Parts: sequence; C-alpha cells; structure tokens
Amino acid sequence: MLDKNIKIAIDGPAGSGKSTIARILAEKLSLIYIDTGAMYRAITLKALKLGKFTKEDIISVAENSQIDFDGGKIYLDGSDVSEEIRKPAVDENVSYVASIPEVREKLVVLQKKMAEKKGVVMDGRDVGTVVLPDADYKFFLTAKVEERAKRRYNELCKKGIFKDYEEIKKEIIKRDKLDAERECSPFKKAEDAVEVDTTGKDIETVVKEILEYIKKGVK
Ligand code: C5P
Repeated sequence: MLDKNIKIAIDGPAGSGKSTIARILAEKLSLIYIDTGAMYRAITLKALKLGKFTKEDIISVAENSQIDFDGGKIYLDGSDVSEEIRKPAVDENVSYVASIPEVREKLVVLQKKMAEKKGVVMDGRDVGTVVLPDADYKFFLTAKVEERAKRRYNELCKKGIFKDYEEIKKEIIKRDKLDAERECSPFKKAEDAVEVDTTGKDIETVVKEILEYIKKGVK
C-alpha cells in the first residue's frame, strides 16, 4: 500500500516522454500530477503575448501571474492555456525564461507548496535535485535525440503544425544545452535517481518498468 503523501520526481530532457508517463503514473497511483515545465511555459506565453522581453519585465510577469492546475489542465490568470503553451514560439523561448533565477525562485516556491501534504508525481528538469530533493522515488528519463525529435514532430503533426524534422531536432539540442548550462539550477540527473532509457520503448512499457521499481521499493 502506497503512502498517500508519496512524492515521485520525474526529470528528463525535452521529448523523453516524461509528461505523458508522469500523467499516467499519477492516474494509476491516484496521485496529483504537476507538470513544472507547463508553469515555465505559461510565464513564457504571457510574456510573449504582452511583448515583454527584458529580464526585468519577465520577472514582473512571473510575479504577477496566477498559475493553477485543475483536472489535467493548466490555468494562467484563470484561463485554460493547456494547448497554447505547446506552441513552437513557446518552445523557442521557454529556456531563456527558465534561466532567470527570480522566475525559478517564484515557481519553485509554488511547486513545493503544491506538493505539501499531498501525494504527487511531479515532472520537470530540477524536481529531483531542487524542488523535491527528498522525494521518495526519483526517475530520470532519457532517449536518443533522434527519437525525441521524432516524437515532437509527430505531436505537432497531430495538431496540424508542420515543422521540419531537422529544425525540431536542432531546437531540442539547443534547448537541452541551454537547460544544462544555465547557472541557476541547471538540468541534471539527481545522484539518487533511477535512469530509464525510453528509446524504442512504448509508453506502456516505460510505465510498467517504473511501477515495478516502485513496487520493489527501489529508491
Ligand atoms: O518539460 P517541458 O519541455 O515542457 O519544459 C519546458 C522548458 O521549461 C524546459 O526546456 C526548461 O527550460 C524549463 N523547465 C525548467 N525546469 C523545470 C521544468 C521545465 O527549467 N522543472
């Protein structure tokens, strides 16, 4: 029987499948799912819409935004932005926004609060290292960049957005680099995280693998 306050951290690069897998795990284990990447995306979307591009302006956007999750959707200042935050313009700018320490500070406080006194599956880039360093289980998902780019390409096609595969691959490599090289909370695997390579595996296989780790009590 799982502790109802269990904390599960899932980190990984763009396209590693972490959001899909974290959502399914949360459903299966009756835990709350929190997509921290969606929060950085929401701030990016608002800054883009307002034409706010300086660091100071973006910090002010983060300080004056209300972010909530409800029923698998993300709400920014009360509006559902779940679809809009996946747009290519957000992909292209989110790593810059996420590199601003004051933005991270504000969102990390919010993320910690969301996980207080609740069982959660939280996914992102710094969940195992910074947001929930004492998480009960930590997983680090990886996959070859070609496969990650293909997943993103297919995801965009399904939405009617046709973007060149090579372009997507280049952007993913750039985003990984920016996330890993930023000064504040760079993207890295927590030392005690279990690495799961999702290359060539379907979602069900990865979910099964993670559930088996959890059942065995491997941390
Ligand atoms: O997970 P997703 O690809 O939606 O994340 C979008 C971006 O948000 C990442 O590329 C990264 O720049 C930022 N991010 C972060 N820390 C997190 C989650 C996401 O810096 N915990």
